[in-house]
Amino acid sequence: MDLTGILQKIAIPRPNHSESVKQTAEYIKELLSSWNVPFVVQDFILRPHMQLLVGLTALIIAVLFFIFVIRKKPLFALIMALAIPALLIIEFEAFIPVVSSLIQTAGENIIVSFTAPNAVQEIIFCAHYDSKTDFFDHIERAKIYKWIPQFIVLGLLLPIWLFLGKKFKFFSNRFSKTLTGILSTFVVIFWLLVFLGFGGYIFIDKKDQSFGAIDNGGSVVTLLALAKDINEGRVKTGKTNITILLTQGEEVTLQGADSYIKKRFLKTPVEPKLPTKLVNLELVGQNGNMIYWKKVGVFLKFYTSDEKLAEQLNKAWIKISGNSMDMEKKITDDSQRFCAADIPSITVGHSGIPGKGMGGFHSTDDSMDRFNLKNLELMIATLETYIEAYDN
Ligand SMILES: [Zn+2]
Repeated sequence: MDLTGILQKIAIPRPNHSESVKQTAEYIKELLSSWNVPFVVQDFILRPHMQLLVGLTALIIAVLFFIFVIRKKPLFALIMALAIPALLIIEFEAFIPVVSSLIQTAGENIIVSFTAPNAVQEIIFCAHYDSKTDFFDHIERAKIYKWIPQFIVLGLLLPIWLFLGKKFKFFSNRFSKTLTGILSTFVVIFWLLVFLGFGGYIFIDKKDQSFGAIDNGGSVVTLLALAKDINEGRVKTGKTNITILLTQGEEVTLQGADSYIKKRFLKTPVEPKLPTKLVNLELVGQNGNMIYWKKVGVFLKFYTSDEKLAEQLNKAWIKISGNSMDMEKKITDDSQRFCAADIPSITVGHSGIPGKGMGGFHSTDDSMDRFNLKNLELMIATLETYIEAYDN
């Protein structure tokens, strides 16, 4: 199997709002068909510009906030100040579309299922096939986003200051007026920067977009190879049902995984349920040791990955390489949706060291230059060893 050749086909900019993400899905399906691997497609409503729309709405609210502060309308300013965190929490934590559904298109999860007779458990292996390019790199972005709580608080304090100004002279003198003017301007500038972080990708030229070779092309290739090997009987799956889930929409806040979970586990609770676990793949096929992430989350709540899974995968990795897995602190990825549905989950990948490590993703640095074929092959072997270790 020409793993490098397959990755080369996938490693093109394929953001969720592009035509190329559809071409990538077509390529994956054609490849599976050519190998006689059966699959189904799960359609879902994709909101490809989620971050752009949320960021733009927050910016508009911040401008309204500024106007109400300048015009000394504390009640309206307070409503605006509350609207921003409410919007972020509803969209990014509760996964309820408010403004993000203004632009919709069709998304596709590609699912391969291998069912075992008398199965006693199911393992879902997941990887997303969409890519993303960000306006700021992740270090610049983190410098901005870490101020979100402070600016939310500042937004709430300014209307209170204005309320006090109606009662006490001190809060409405000239100094106070200048100060509230300056601070509310800062609020607007800050949410402008957040908007660029969220939605600035629309200003990026096609030639400057991430190829998504490592995030998350390598993981997709790993799972395609795993599907082929299982289909051709090279993996003893025993009494384990194996599901291979290739999601779209991960880069626009885990929409493919969210849809999969809602359609499969939340809407049909009557389905006979086997104990199910998730092994999610991110950043597979760059340099370095195998790693797993301790925590996963989007914005506020972070879940802890399953210790038992970490132990079992570590065992497999030791068997293959002689090394123990390393741990990274936290990540935002599809496994968050499984954790939220109480399914034991873990995300594994490669450390990227020597090299850019966890840096350089969502930019042109995520190219074939970072690809390490040997590591990808080792990941396939590790996952197969892990499956076969279930003595059933
Ligand atoms: Zn990713």
